[in-house]
Amino acid sequence: MVNSFDRYHLWHPYTSLTDPLPTYEVASAEGCILHLADGRELIDGMASWWCAIHGYNVPELNAAATEQLQCMSHVMFGGITHRPAIALGERLVDIMPEGLDRIFLADSGSVSVEVAMKMAVQYQHARGHGTERSKFLTLRGGYHGDTTGPMSVCDPVTGMHQLLAGFLPQHHFYDRPPGGYDKPVDPSYVSGLEQFFAEHAGHAAAFIIEPVVQGAGGMHFYSPDYLPVFRRLCDAHGLLLIYDEIATGFGRTGELFLSHHPGARPDVVCIGKALTGGYLTLAATITTAHVAETIGKGAAGVLMHGPTFMGNPLACTVAAASINLLLRKDWSAEVQHIAVQLTLHLRAAAHLPHVKDVRVLGAIGVVELHELVDVSHFQAYCVERGVWIRPFGKLIYLMPPYVITDRQLELLCGAVVNYVLASRPA
Ligand code: PMP
Repeated sequence: MVNSFDRYHLWHPYTSLTDPLPTYEVASAEGCILHLADGRELIDGMASWWCAIHGYNVPELNAAATEQLQCMSHVMFGGITHRPAIALGERLVDIMPEGLDRIFLADSGSVSVEVAMKMAVQYQHARGHGTERSKFLTLRGGYHGDTTGPMSVCDPVTGMHQLLAGFLPQHHFYDRPPGGYDKPVDPSYVSGLEQFFAEHAGHAAAFIIEPVVQGAGGMHFYSPDYLPVFRRLCDAHGLLLIYDEIATGFGRTGELFLSHHPGARPDVVCIGKALTGGYLTLAATITTAHVAETIGKGAAGVLMHGPTFMGNPLACTVAAASINLLLRKDWSAEVQHIAVQLTLHLRAAAHLPHVKDVRVLGAIGVVELHELVDVSHFQAYCVERGVWIRPFGKLIYLMPPYVITDRQLELLCGAVVNYVLASRPA
């Protein structure tokens, strides 16, 4: 069922308005089910791109939002504060590693990365470096968002560097760590990275990475043992270490945040996506007293960012309620259980010749093919079978809400495996 207004007038993510991919109209959602306008029901395998960790239409979050709506939906944050922002801030300080306790409330993940990058540059300026420390070091295969700063540190090949050549600032990229969560650290990789830092760190403000899981850049998993290596190199060269935990945060990988990894606390961390349990757009850039105070002593004295919807009370209220809900239950057991189920069901695809890899970490299951997946064909196949999965590139992946049932997960995995079996080259 194609809605013609939508087809001609509304852009969807990464699509053409002249030749758009099909869209499916969702009328409502509850638990892990998306109800289509034509009456069909789909089991959600995407958690709306990592966000809806508690599923949809969650009574606790509905109640928090409704109560806050009676009070105020929004009020400016310039010169004004409010209980929802303070309560969320207190909660974030509780769940972040000690010392990460200075919070900038941003309105989307991309904006929180912009803010992190500005923090790093302002920090270096305040330390007496002029413009010579305004570059960023980062890893190939990363994804940090679609606004200018984040795009400039997305993978230079799969990101938008070619398309927007001349527009994006140039930064320095090094290979990502070899794949494998359990793989020991590769000394030759580390010496290459040391060399890279030696060459470029003198011009750089920070090293920005997605810890352990590179998401939209390729669903690449690497060992957390690289994080202390990153920390050591940043310390040795006077760079800030920025973790983009927008996708990995709130338990998705099995850790609440990878920022807790011993010996590898970042100076700045960005969180978003699941922050409001998928209800509203909100993100945060969180740093240390040292960084905040250094910026405060700089020439500007202030952090130069202040979006209109900063600290939106409705979003802050729902975020605090979502964190409370997450921490009240045994989220870690839920995520580990999903990991076991994903491993069990997806392994049927692993031996196929056109499958490059099947990997699972926490509540993320990935089937990587050798060839590109035909998105509209794949989605039509899934919708016919009552599941919702959005592939990209050569990757079919699942990251369901944590409240998914075993049966729902089995059906999601079954659709993936059967599609892969059916698309086996002759
Ligand atoms: N960083 C990472 C790691 C992400 O996965 C995303 C979103 N896919 C972003 C940043 C950007 O967040 P947003 O889409 O909310 O701007």
